[in-house]
Amino acid sequence: MLNLVLFGPPGAGKGTQSAFLVQEYSLIHLSTGDLLRAEIAAGTPLGMEAKQLMDQGLLVPDSVVIGMIRNKLEQNTQAKGFIFDGFPRTVEQANALDALLSEKQTAISAMLALVVSEEELVKRLLNRGKDSGRSDDQDESIIRKRITEYNQKTAPLAEFYANQGKYIPIEGIGAISEITSALKTAISKL
Ligand code: ADP
Repeated sequence: MLNLVLFGPPGAGKGTQSAFLVQEYSLIHLSTGDLLRAEIAAGTPLGMEAKQLMDQGLLVPDSVVIGMIRNKLEQNTQAKGFIFDGFPRTVEQANALDALLSEKQTAISAMLALVVSEEELVKRLLNRGKDSGRSDDQDESIIRKRITEYNQKTAPLAEFYANQGKYIPIEGIGAISEITSALKTAISKL
């Protein structure tokens, strides 16, 4: 199986690049952000609780997102592979993912990390907020809070995967097609 973690701060371009990778390699796209927004849209209790945290730029509890990923893995036993987008976001989530995959006799193939400067991220997210309708993209202080959460809780995962020899940094600024090519080249070497 090809199991990729697409990694990077909010606004790094994970969603854009996932769409291409899913097509090219016939992978199943698992985005915890999308799964949480679907819960919000459906008005579930889980969605209502998550929205409060998401609107403050905070992470939702590990147990919630780990449970959602476990369900999706169980619903897709025949998959050729997965692309994890926005997950894992904490060391606890990364350990849980390793355990879930090893139960299925598989593992993460690589972490592809999109590297983008903070100023560029804020610019992109404010721009996306103009038409995405995402409440967490409308306000610069919430965007900066998400980046702080990322730097504190998520950035350490680069080292987690580097220790497993799986960390691959990719320049995330430039033409979308150039970034796609860099990802493809990295995957071809796996
Ligand atoms: P972005 O990458 O632009 O921040 P996402 O759509 O991945 O957007 O996530 C939006 C919000 O959903 C996050 O700010 C966070 O509150 C919540 N969220 C998504 N994935 C996770 C996760 N794995 N763990 C905890 N919270 C998450």
